This record gives sequence, structure tokens and C-alpha cells, in this order.
Amino acid sequence: MIYVDNNATTAVAPEVRDVMLPFFNELYYNPSSMYPPAQNVAHEVKKARQTIAQCLDIEDPSEILFTSCASESNNAAIFGSAAANSSRKHIITTSVEHPAVLEVCKEMERRGYRVTYLKVNKLGELDMREYVRALDEDTLIVSIMHANNETGVVFPVEDLARIAKETDPKIIFHTDATQTMTKLPLNYQSGLFDLVSFSGHKFHAPKGVGGLYIRKGTRIRPFLIGGHQENGRRAGTENVAYIVGMAEAMKLAAKTHAADSERIRKMRARFENTLLERIPYIEINGRGAARMPNTSNIAVHCIEGEAILYQLSEAGICASSGSACTSGSLESSHVLKAMNVPFTAMHGSTRFSFSRYNTEEEIAYITDVFPKIVERLRNMSPYWDKQNQRPIVRN
Ligand code: PLP
Repeated sequence: MIYVDNNATTAVAPEVRDVMLPFFNELYYNPSSMYPPAQNVAHEVKKARQTIAQCLDIEDPSEILFTSCASESNNAAIFGSAAANSSRKHIITTSVEHPAVLEVCKEMERRGYRVTYLKVNKLGELDMREYVRALDEDTLIVSIMHANNETGVVFPVEDLARIAKETDPKIIFHTDATQTMTKLPLNYQSGLFDLVSFSGHKFHAPKGVGGLYIRKGTRIRPFLIGGHQENGRRAGTENVAYIVGMAEAMKLAAKTHAADSERIRKMRARFENTLLERIPYIEINGRGAARMPNTSNIAVHCIEGEAILYQLSEAGICASSGSACTSGSLESSHVLKAMNVPFTAMHGSTRFSFSRYNTEEEIAYITDVFPKIVERLRNMSPYWDKQNQRPIVRN
């Protein structure tokens, strides 16, 4: 199988697996226990926190909170901020966030909060004027993702955070950096970011471990209570093996990032240019906006994404129609809807997301197979003019 769905999850790096293994057998102790072997395990958790802080250029490792995933981090960030700052009742987010932010915001609305969902343009970009207008004296938190998981479009979170802080330093700025962690930098020492969510399985650590950066001084209530772990900020025995694995994955990424991202960027450019040459009536969603180098979201007019995915999978290619959370349902993507992608193309959108493990040979295979799949499906489509090889225009 050729795996090009790395925004859904990534393969665990062999180096990461190797450092984790001892923690399942020899080093299984609870880091809260008093005897020396357990204290050694506690020391490994401490070291992992230091490694991550070092990789991200964070001065104080205690600003890193380990969680189970980015969904938990996002929930903790928003619910925890609201619980600790009850006088403010307004939240700003965007219409294209991951459901782990959007659904939390909807829940906050049910609890009486006002939520502004910022719109995006056709390229998936925000309107800064709309953002500035939305900030007010009641704004508790701004939660805006660093890069979109479906299109790879990157938001200028540093500018957005600066504007929020200049408007009112008490506004909490949270960014969901799940797709960008280890791939795009954030300046933590700027003091602009109060909360940053991430997840290990997006950068070659296993599923089930994530983190929340909490800038010192940020008022936030624990989301999970009932234990003293993580300095009283999250109850629950630490997932030691996975925490150690996530730190190793970050270290690995820090070493290889520059070369990987350049290679992936070139590979993606070849991929997109070849498809644009070989397939008529396709659009690359978000092309023209600042984009992650590894993501390619391709809208194919006149056919269904589900059919494309099925045929890709028959050809041994794992891609997706959007986020893993929406695939499996026939609901069209809220992100592409927000970008006003034409109806005839929205349903035929396919996301390819690459990692350092993808090769040129794989790209050549996909760019060979994909046009044939599109041609076959279009020739069966009631919306496609087979004779003239173009969409049927109905008045
Ligand atoms: N936020 C974004 C932007 C994501 O892409 C994802 C996963 O796809 C998540 C949050 C949720 O991550 P997790 O599966 O670790 O909860």
C-alpha cells in the first residue's frame, strides 16, 4: 500500500518504537511511586519534557502539559480557560477548525457563551478586518488553528495573536498546532501564544499521546481532576512509554526537518503540476494561499470523492476525502463549504498528505493511476459530457 494520508496519522518511526519498548517490560513502574526504579521512570518523563521544551525553544519545560491527544488539549484549552476566567463570555474561532474545537465552541454556546466563527475566502484565508472587528472587551479566548488539516492552509497565528494581545493582553490566545508541530515553527518566547495544542501521532509518535503548551501565568483550570500528576494540572498516571516516544519523535524531526520539508515541498509541486497537466477540470484547494508543504487537496469536478477513494484504494493508495473525522459520512466538508468550493467539485475533493517516508516512485505511481481513475469515473458520471470531455452545463 502507498500511504498518503499523513494528516490523518503517521507511521511510528522505528527509532521511536525502540526507545518505547523498555517501558512496557523492565521500566513499567508508576512514576509517582517512591522506590528507586519508579523514580528512574519519573526521571524519564522529566527528561522527555525537557527534550520537547528544547526542541521547541521553550525556556521552562513545566510549560508543557502531557495529554492523551490534541482533541483533549483543545477541550482542555477552551473549557479550562472558561472555567478559570468566568467574567468573560465571548470566544473567537474560525469556521474551518477541527471538530475538537468547533464542537467545544458549540457546547460553549449552549452554556450561554457568544462565539464568533470567522469566515474564510475562496483560498481558505481569514479576513483580518473581520477579526479585528470581532475582538471586544468580553473576549475570553481566541482559538485559531495554525494550519488546516484538510487543505494545509496556514493561518498567520503570530499576527493574529499580536493583534489580540495589543487589543487586550488579558485575551487568551490558543492555537491548534496539530498539523504544524515539528513542521512549522512557533515563537514561544514571544509571549504571544498562551496555549498550543499538539498530538504525537501526527509526527511519527504513536496515537494516544499529545500535549498542551501552557504559557506561564495563563489562567486555566484542570480539565481532568482527581490526581496530582502534571503539577496538579491533569490527573491520571502518566503514559510514560508514549511520552518518551513523543519526545524521541520530536528530536528526530528536529534533526531531519529542514531536509524533509524541502524534499516534500518539491515532491508535492511535481505531484500537483503533473496532475494539473494530465487531468482537465481539477482545482487545488488553497493553492495560492500559504500552505503546508505536505498537503494537497484536489477538487475533481463531476465525480464523487467516495468513488475516487474506493478506486484509489483498489489501486493500493490510501488517501482521504477530508479529515478522518468526516470520512465515512457523506456530509461534505465544512472546510470546503466555508471556502465556497463549487458544489460540483466539493464532493470530488481528495486529500493527499505526504510524509518523509514517501518516495518519488510512489508519487509517479499515483500521478499515473489517478488520471485514469478520474477518466473512468467521469465517463460514468451524469454530469460529464463524455463526447466533449467537459462538464455538462445545465441552464
Ligand atoms: N486538530 C487538528 C487540526 C487535527 O488535524 C486533528 C486530527 O486530525 C486533531 C485536532 C485531533 O487530533 P487527535 O486525533 O490527536 O485528537
